[in-house]
Amino acid sequence: MDRVYNFSAGPSMLPLEVLEKAQKELVAFGDSGMSVMEMSHRSKVYDEIIKGAEAVLRDIMNIPENYKVLFLQGGASTQFAMVPLNLFRNSKKADYVNTGQWSKKAISEAKRYGTINVVASSEDTTFNYIPELDKSTFSSDADYFHITSNNTIYGTRYIELPDTGDVPLVSDMSSCILSEVCDVSKFGLIYAGAQKNMGPAGLTVVIIREDLIGHAMDIAPTMLNYKTHADNDSLYNTPPTYSIYIAKLVFEWVKSKGGLAEMEKINKEKASILYDFLDNSGFYKGTVVPKYRSLMNIPFVTPSKELDEKFVKEATAKGLVNLKGHRTVGGMRASIYNAMPVEGVKALVDFMKKFEMENR
Ligand SMILES: *Cc1c(COP(=O)(O)O)cnc(C)c1O
Repeated sequence: MDRVYNFSAGPSMLPLEVLEKAQKELVAFGDSGMSVMEMSHRSKVYDEIIKGAEAVLRDIMNIPENYKVLFLQGGASTQFAMVPLNLFRNSKKADYVNTGQWSKKAISEAKRYGTINVVASSEDTTFNYIPELDKSTFSSDADYFHITSNNTIYGTRYIELPDTGDVPLVSDMSSCILSEVCDVSKFGLIYAGAQKNMGPAGLTVVIIREDLIGHAMDIAPTMLNYKTHADNDSLYNTPPTYSIYIAKLVFEWVKSKGGLAEMEKINKEKASILYDFLDNSGFYKGTVVPKYRSLMNIPFVTPSKELDEKFVKEATAKGLVNLKGHRTVGGMRASIYNAMPVEGVKALVDFMKKFEMENR
């Protein structure tokens, strides 16, 4: 069967080269005589895989020495609790920006453990922009400041990071990690579920500045304490071994393509093909304030709900799948992560032109 162009927001497309390499190695990895799925996480051969994954990630993201990389489970959603449980070490206060459903979930989870100051929100217009931030509303004694760098459901992204001074900046980068050049040193902590831009579901990557480790609240369970995983090189218990292996292949793929600078260039090119088309269309409409448009998730609508439905149905029949918008916002959403080739975006635009001609 032919592969489709999969515009899913996550789990999402993986590079074909990665899948093919994994296929070749599926039954017997190297000369181990077994699948990576069957290996002990304590074996020498697996140790090379997990250490290798970390090394390539450090290389492509240029992660400074004083940061730990942790390979965890539980998804980004577990980080909503793990971040406050570990970072509430003084005032037990934190500042959050509410830019959508994932921010809201992070906020409500953090509220269980301390005082949350929501410094700004874009809820008034269904989160179709990133709110301007006023430094005078920031808590100077906050233990951390939390943002969602890219808002998967609404298709917005920060174009400028908040200046939080000495307060560590924490970012949920689930849907934009590896999509563009990132200065890790600007953050105290970065977390991301792997299933959007790094690999299969089951793996969560945390990049944390070392001085933020080791101050967890007493109530933090062992498994939700960053120190547990940092002290054991992410091998305190069985990590998601196969997901880490695939992520390693994805990191190597990113590196082979020229790294994050090249990813950023291609992603900008892909996004602008779609945005330029939307901007020049009298039929389709992008739903996000242009300044804050995401490079990864691009929501748009036709003139009516009926046409939106018809669009999704006919696109699917043409091998352009998972274009239905999130159930809370409707319309369409094209998620075009690193693995989506330029040809996929061009095929989508060609289909959009044809659909418009037939339905306007
Ligand atoms: C998908 C997503 C999440 C949820 O991730 P899980 O791994 O399913 O818990 C959180 N934040 C953002 C920005 C996301 O895109």
